[in-house]
Amino acid sequence: MRIFTKTSNAFFALMISFGCGQTDAVAKAQDYANCWFIKEDGKEVHAPSKAAIDFVEYVSKVAGLSMNFEVVGIDYKGKSTIATAFMCGGQRMIGYDVNNFFWFDGSKTDFYSIGVLLHEIGHHYRGHLFTGQLDEEGEKREELEADYFAGFIIESLGGTLNQALQKTREYDESYNKTHPPKSKRVEAVSNGWRDARMKSRLTTPRCRKSDWVGDEFEIDFKVCRQLMDCRNGKPVYRVACETEIGKWVFQ
Ligand SMILES: [Zn+2]
Repeated sequence: MRIFTKTSNAFFALMISFGCGQTDAVAKAQDYANCWFIKEDGKEVHAPSKAAIDFVEYVSKVAGLSMNFEVVGIDYKGKSTIATAFMCGGQRMIGYDVNNFFWFDGSKTDFYSIGVLLHEIGHHYRGHLFTGQLDEEGEKREELEADYFAGFIIESLGGTLNQALQKTREYDESYNKTHPPKSKRVEAVSNGWRDARMKSRLTTPRCRKSDWVGDEFEIDFKVCRQLMDCRNGKPVYRVACETEIGKWVFQ
């Protein structure tokens, strides 16, 4: 889904980068409170959490694109769609549900919610909120492009194809004016996921067995080393330090 901009009265969003502090983020979120999308259905806008910003910035890096939108938390007042792409006074926005924010906490990852968030982000990266009113076919094409983006990034985040397709399980095959049938959406997500897998196979070094790499170094008087972790087939580099003799702890 993508939400078109409507002209909001006397409201002009401030284009401030993410380098600002939390106070600025709160003030800025309040500026967006006048946005038509927020006002609709009595939603409330909140400053984004650091975890939300970090995650979205990370996704942008993985996608190899600079972030071209602002993130805000939204209280959808019980009508959550997990995340929404919308326009606010000419500014591209991503809103996420502050009441159900859980994408990942380091050990667990919710690929269902991430799938929705990435689909919405995909609409921004593909410039869909600037394409104007489209016919039915055009709308469906854009939905599939956003699905492809979500599949591509989920693979890049270490998600399996099964995890990438988690959200599609609730779609159906019947006719819908704006969204393509389930089979097409499954195909788009899968294509994105497979293309990312192919790209990573071409660009990442072979990684079959986890092993130490490089020389020892020191952090806070502890001996540390880097480990190439091959458990997911792709190398992930982690730092471990020796806290007691023979006991290595990941940092
Ligand atoms: Zn969409």
